[in-house]
Amino acid sequence: VRIHELAKELDVKSKELIGVLEEMGYSGLTASSSVPDEAVPRLRASGGKAVPAGKPKVVTEEPVTPTRRKASAKKAKTAKATTTKAEPAGQKAEAAPAQAEAPAEPRAEPAPAEPAAAPEPAAPPAPEPEVEGVKIARGSSVKEVADKLGTEPTSLIRKLLELGQMVTITQSLPDEAIELVAQDLGQPVEIVAPEEDLEPEDDDLDPERMTLRPPVITVMGHVDHGKTLLLDAIRQTDVVSGEAGGITQAIGAYQVRQDGSEITFIDTPGHEAFTAMRARGAQVTDIAVLVVAADDGVMPQTIEAIDHAAAAAVPIVVAVNKIDKPEADPMRVRQQLAEVGIQPSEWGGDYEFVDVSAKSGEGIEKLLETLLLVSELQELKADPEAAPRGIAIEAHLDKGRGPVATVLVQQGTLRVGDAIVSGAAHGRVRAMFDEHAVPVEEAGPGKPVQALGWSSPPEAGDEFRVAEDEREARRIAQEREARQRAAEIVAKRPAQTLEEILATAAREGEIADLNLVLKADTRGSLEALADALAKLSGDEVRVRILHQSVGAIAESDVMLAQASSAVVVGFNVVPDPNARAAAEQEGVDIRTYRVIYEAVDEIKQAMSGLLTPGEEEVALGRAEVRAIFQVPRAGRAAGCYVTQGTITRNARARLVRDGVVVYDGRIASLRRFKDDVREVQEGFECGIGLEDFQDVKEGDVIEAYEVREVARSL
Ligand code: GDP
Repeated sequence: VRIHELAKELDVKSKELIGVLEEMGYSGLTASSSVPDEAVPRLRASGGKAVPAGKPKVVTEEPVTPTRRKASAKKAKTAKATTTKAEPAGQKAEAAPAQAEAPAEPRAEPAPAEPAAAPEPAAPPAPEPEVEGVKIARGSSVKEVADKLGTEPTSLIRKLLELGQMVTITQSLPDEAIELVAQDLGQPVEIVAPEEDLEPEDDDLDPERMTLRPPVITVMGHVDHGKTLLLDAIRQTDVVSGEAGGITQAIGAYQVRQDGSEITFIDTPGHEAFTAMRARGAQVTDIAVLVVAADDGVMPQTIEAIDHAAAAAVPIVVAVNKIDKPEADPMRVRQQLAEVGIQPSEWGGDYEFVDVSAKSGEGIEKLLETLLLVSELQELKADPEAAPRGIAIEAHLDKGRGPVATVLVQQGTLRVGDAIVSGAAHGRVRAMFDEHAVPVEEAGPGKPVQALGWSSPPEAGDEFRVAEDEREARRIAQEREARQRAAEIVAKRPAQTLEEILATAAREGEIADLNLVLKADTRGSLEALADALAKLSGDEVRVRILHQSVGAIAESDVMLAQASSAVVVGFNVVPDPNARAAAEQEGVDIRTYRVIYEAVDEIKQAMSGLLTPGEEEVALGRAEVRAIFQVPRAGRAAGCYVTQGTITRNARARLVRDGVVVYDGRIASLRRFKDDVREVQEGFECGIGLEDFQDVKEGDVIEAYEVREVARSL
């Protein structure tokens, strides 16, 4: 057993265990050393607390860092360590400081040095440590909850019975029930994602062992601006590895060497992949390279990429590409980016710009040097001796080799033979290869390797860690899978509605950020809406607009909202089908409005917690307009095909053209062949007439909905 594993099992910190072992006469130990065999039973018997046995264990003494805070701490660190920090483009000045002020965390050592900070008892008014609860996985059973709370399952069952709920010992508890019983026991709890409470804590990181690690870079930018070619060009500059291993394989990430330092590139360009990973909880990227073609200039996806990087507080380096082209105008690119807040450093701003040609290779070295410079400011460090863990970047099923996954090690050193688990996938590392298909025995922080030996391909963006042995890995994977399933039954999706976000923010006490993604039909309405919403910022809640653009609500908007706990606000636009599906699955709140005042009012009300019984829109069905025909009495009618749900006569309905709402009213007539009908189901054709509206076109979409009264509460 390694020390960190036993520490986890005994629910103490690795450091404490090392201390106890030292008292028992063992020295020179680290968290990843093995516990001397003869000491194991003694430590198990004493609960790892050989010395001050009388001291009761208090929940809050353990610096358990919930992931949410971990992410924000990381964010703060990134933002603080570098001056090159993006601010959402197009954001109004009054909303902007929200981000700049965010890093209010103590100016600690570069490393997340929580264990070192803990032993010092009462220093003067240290920032109030937040009371943190026991982590309980969503979907845990009565028995699991009881174990976590240190009580008997029967007493929980009795308690719940008193509260009017009958449960059995193996039954999964809904979030509210877990909170209720914990409250009753006076124990703070935190309900986390099903897999999260099984993750190793960062308490095995030793500040003394922290060493610099390579930065991890993601390339973003508008389509066709040269992201793919740039990644190819960078790969080819790496003469050293080129000689060693020959042609590079596309394994999802690769490393190059520059001035003796390594840089890791994620091989899937684009902010969609970046944000999708974030939405799964993975913070991989340290710096974003924003590619802008010098002949084309700033385009919509350029802005989107900036906003996505800014939402993650990832610094940006701009690569002005295609400078070999005669029509290239690198100055214009600088001007355009300066206008959206990305000021070049040569003009006194915070952003490094490098002119490159992915085609000729010009400027690539300069770009790499700049990346190293920016990464130095971030002081990226990792502990190569910690328990190995990181992120699965890419995975697939290989015909000959079975499930294969490219993993990026973030802490510790992964070795061939390690038992490994990621999500529901597990196994033992049979072999590892680098991007030159060269077998490697071990991979330290920042190094991407292709690992073989999985039971199934893990999900890209999932964390991986090592377990004591294969059996343990399988047990963890199975436990996760079971909880995942249970969590899906108990709580259909994680709560992220506007009200819930605000309620959570309010509970956390400090000034809360309300993150918004805004979409509208025209530039004018977008700006009016953004202005009005930004003005709602007050002492308690600050409105942060992460991204705003014209057009239908797209999947990438939903992913951004999910990754940043934001609400999507649409004005005269609706989500496209992919966005709708993603929002449903990810639990993202999309609010659409036809009147700016209504949008502002509703959000204001929610912010002030004055929610009165309100109205909630419930989608009934969708139909596509496939033909237009004349109907004797009713004028023009639309020949439709119901693609989803049910269309009902007299229902409220809107007409959507290219994502923009062009009509909002009622369904006046509904027919199947010649007959008037009350409703038409999915998969059938029908004729639809809209009340006082004739201008229907082929390709339009009719959405029927119903407005219900709901009592809202925070
Ligand atoms: P992506 O969509 O951003 O990944 O763009 P690609 O890398 O696929 O490049 C789009 C097109 O631009 C391709 O035809 C490339 O050959 C071309 N291209 C990319 N970089 C350069 C460059 O520096 N100079 C020139 N002349 N063409 C380039």
